[in-house]
Amino acid sequence: IFIIIGLGSMGLAFFGSLFLADKALIPIKEAWEKQKSFVADASHELRTPLSSIRTNLEVVLDNTEESVESQRKWLNNILFENKRMSKLVDDLLLLARADSKQENMIMIPFSLDRAIAEAVSPLEPIAAKKGIEIDMQLHDQISLAGDESHIKQLIVILVDNAIKYSAANGLVEVELNNHSSYAEILVSDTGEGIKEEEKAKIFERFYRVDKARSRESGGSGLGLSIAQWIAREHGGSISVSSGKIKGSVFKVTLPKNQSKKRKK
Ligand code: ADP
Repeated sequence: IFIIIGLGSMGLAFFGSLFLADKALIPIKEAWEKQKSFVADASHELRTPLSSIRTNLEVVLDNTEESVESQRKWLNNILFENKRMSKLVDDLLLLARADSKQENMIMIPFSLDRAIAEAVSPLEPIAAKKGIEIDMQLHDQISLAGDESHIKQLIVILVDNAIKYSAANGLVEVELNNHSSYAEILVSDTGEGIKEEEKAKIFERFYRVDKARSRESGGSGLGLSIAQWIAREHGGSISVSSGKIKGSVFKVTLPKNQSKKRKK
């Protein structure tokens, strides 16, 4: 009887450990697969501007007889692709540091309404070029303990997208509301909007509804993943819905209570 009980418990322990090991293996496998596709996507995204730079350089070198004016066109293309690549590399480095928990948030109380105004102001001339008006409704003065520069980065991503994905003469609204336990930031536009089935996907790394459109405007497809990471690091969230008539509304909530922060 003792031998049977002994063998039985050894068997249970053996299969139990296999089961646990298997359970532990699944997330590791998933993380590995994610990492592999991230590296593949990143390489692909870097290859595109690189080959464009090369083609434009070859055209300049092969056409030395051309006027300075027409050469300037090719050089401008090179500059555009170079800026796109730098932005992509910056975004990739930030996400890599975020994944390995090396990107630290410095949580200090700051004025959220002032930070929003400061983040939006440099974007106004870019909007004006498209005849887009930015209407800021910073209803309340809110002091928030958070990382000011990352929160500004989040605002820039949302407002920059609102401008990029709007037709000429649209309206972008930035609203700040004070709730008892959290601050709410709304960024709405009168642009093309986002289809229901795309709404969850746009927060995934490299996901773009219209790749060509995003590329044309210098997009890397990483902005919203970075915005979501910043909101979550503050214990908050980000979501998107459709505008009343057209366009999109991005909503960011940031808890004011320190103890609720950094919940995943
Ligand atoms: P990108 O660099 O392409 O703008 P993002 O991660 O910021 O990358 O956004 C992902 C995709 O979500 C965009 O390519 C675009 O298709 C869609 N998107 C983001 N913001 C808006 C918006 N305000 N209106 C319409 N589509 C948007």
